[in-house]
Amino acid sequence: MEDVFMKIIRREIPADIVYEDADTVAFLDIRPNTPGHTLVVPKKPVQNIFDADDETLAATMRTVRKIAPAVRDAVGAHGVHINSNHGAAAGQIVFHLHFHIIPRHDKSEFAFWPQNEYPPGEAATIAEKIRQALG
Ligand code: 5GP
Repeated sequence: MEDVFMKIIRREIPADIVYEDADTVAFLDIRPNTPGHTLVVPKKPVQNIFDADDETLAATMRTVRKIAPAVRDAVGAHGVHINSNHGAAAGQIVFHLHFHIIPRHDKSEFAFWPQNEYPPGEAATIAEKIRQALG
């Protein structure tokens, strides 16, 4: 499947690029949740957290940390959401690792996902399964 972010990295299609270094690029999301919504991507074409190596993730997060306050200040926001979808079931549409930096001015701009409760004992069971999966 076409990796549209590689096309942006290679300047094959236009984008409002705000930052670039040896390993990463940041550009405005074409369909912003709020004005200033920025995507940070590695130049290396990894799909998501499941195939990304530590170095690629570290470089990408360094750029997220650099870009987040600039995005916040540029649009006069008070905070940002840093969101990242991994896998189609989580809403990932573009299979090139990316972090969304979304300016927030106040809580009315977003709704948190529903919070649920564990039946008795289920949290401990799931926690144990995660520990076992970690090996
Ligand atoms: P996700 O994969 O996390 O669901 O979201 C992918 C994001 O990439 C979306 O917010 C979408 O608006 C953005 N996007 C998709 N295609 C393009 C494009 O060609 N240019 C830019 N700047 N953003 C894009």
